[in-house]
Amino acid sequence: MSEIKYDWTKEEIKAIYDKPFMELIYEAATVHRENHNPNEVQVSSLISIKTGGCSEDCGYCPQAARYHTDIDKNDLMSLEEVTQMAENAKAGGASRVCLGAAWRNVKNDTDFDNVLEMVKGVNSMNMEVCCTLGMLSQDQARRLKEAGIYAYNHNLDSSEEFYKEIISTRGYDDRLRTIEHAQNEGIHVCSGGIIGMGESDDDRVGMLYTLSRLNPHPSSVPINGLVPVPGTPLEEQKPVSIWEMVRMIATARIVMPRAQVRLSAGRTYMTQEGQAMCFMAGANSIFAGDKLLTTPNPEYNEDMELFDLLNITPKKAYVDGAQPQTKESYKEVRETEQAKWSRPEHKIEANELKKAEAKEVRKVTRVDSLN
Ligand code: SF4
Repeated sequence: MSEIKYDWTKEEIKAIYDKPFMELIYEAATVHRENHNPNEVQVSSLISIKTGGCSEDCGYCPQAARYHTDIDKNDLMSLEEVTQMAENAKAGGASRVCLGAAWRNVKNDTDFDNVLEMVKGVNSMNMEVCCTLGMLSQDQARRLKEAGIYAYNHNLDSSEEFYKEIISTRGYDDRLRTIEHAQNEGIHVCSGGIIGMGESDDDRVGMLYTLSRLNPHPSSVPINGLVPVPGTPLEEQKPVSIWEMVRMIATARIVMPRAQVRLSAGRTYMTQEGQAMCFMAGANSIFAGDKLLTTPNPEYNEDMELFDLLNITPKKAYVDGAQPQTKESYKEVRETEQAKWSRPEHKIEANELKKAEAKEVRKVTRVDSLN
C-alpha cells in the first residue's frame, strides 16, 4: 500500500504532474492497483432535486439565476419522485445517489426537513447517499448525519488564487469551512473541481495541493471537464483535451491514493478509448445517467457497454465504510440492548461481568504500583 501523505508541497505535486506522460500513467496505475481493485468502478447517480434560481455567481454554472440559460428550473422534488429515481438508478447499477440542490446554503426550513427525509429514504434502500446543497453549518451537518448521509459533496472548483476569477459571492474559506463541518461529523467528503475554465497548470496543481492536505483526504475526488454552457460567462471556453484530463486524474490518484477519483462532467466529449485511459490512470468512479444536474452525460446503457468491453464491474455500496445508522436506528439498537440486559438471566451475567472487571482493575493497579 502506498504511503498516505498529508504534507504534499506544490513543488512535489507539480513534479508529478509534469512527468513524461507514459511514466505518469504507469506510476498512477501502480498506485491504483496497490489501493483498489482496478477492475471495479463505482457508479454514482446524480439527481437534481432542486434546479436553477441559485443566488451564487459561479461562472461555469447554468443554474445561477443571474445568467440567461435555457435550463428547466424546478422547485424541490417530492420524496416519492426522488425514491423512484433512486430505485431506477439502483436497477441501473448505481451504488451511490447524490442529491443536488441549487442553493447557496442550507436553510433550516421545511425544504431541508424534506431533504432529510430523502436521505433517510435512500439510505434505507442500502445505497450510499451523498448530498450537494451548498454551504452547511455544523448543526446542519449533524442533522444530515443523523438522517443517514454517507458523503457530502462540496467542490473546491480550482486553486485558491484562480477561484476568485470564477466566483465572487463566497470565498475559498467558506468552502473549506463546510468541508470541515462535514468531516467533524464523520461524514465522508467528496471534493474536487473543474478543469478547462481558463486556469493554468499551476492552478490545477494548487487545487490538488489543498485537497491533498486535508486530513483525512476526501474519500471522493471528482475531476470535471468544463462543459461550456451558452449564457454563462465561460460559454466560449474550449473543452479540455483527453491528455489534460488523464494527467489531472493520474496526479490526483498518486497524491490521494485511497480516494475514489471520479471521472465526472465532460465525458460526452470523450471516446471509449479516452475513458479507458482515464480508468488506467486511476479513475475509479463515474457519474451515470443521461444528465449531470443540467449538462449532458452518457446514457446508462453506453456506460454498461463500456464496462462489458473492459470487463469492469460496478463497485458495491459500503465497501469503503459502514452504512450510516439513522438516529432512529441508533435508538432501536439502544432499546433492544436495554431490553436484553434487563432480562433476569442477563442481569446475573452483567453482575458477574462487573465483578470480573473490578478484579482486573485491582490486578492492574497492583502491577502498576510494583513498577
Ligand atoms: S455551482 Fe452551485 S452554488 Fe454555484 S451557481 Fe451553480 S448551483 Fe449555485
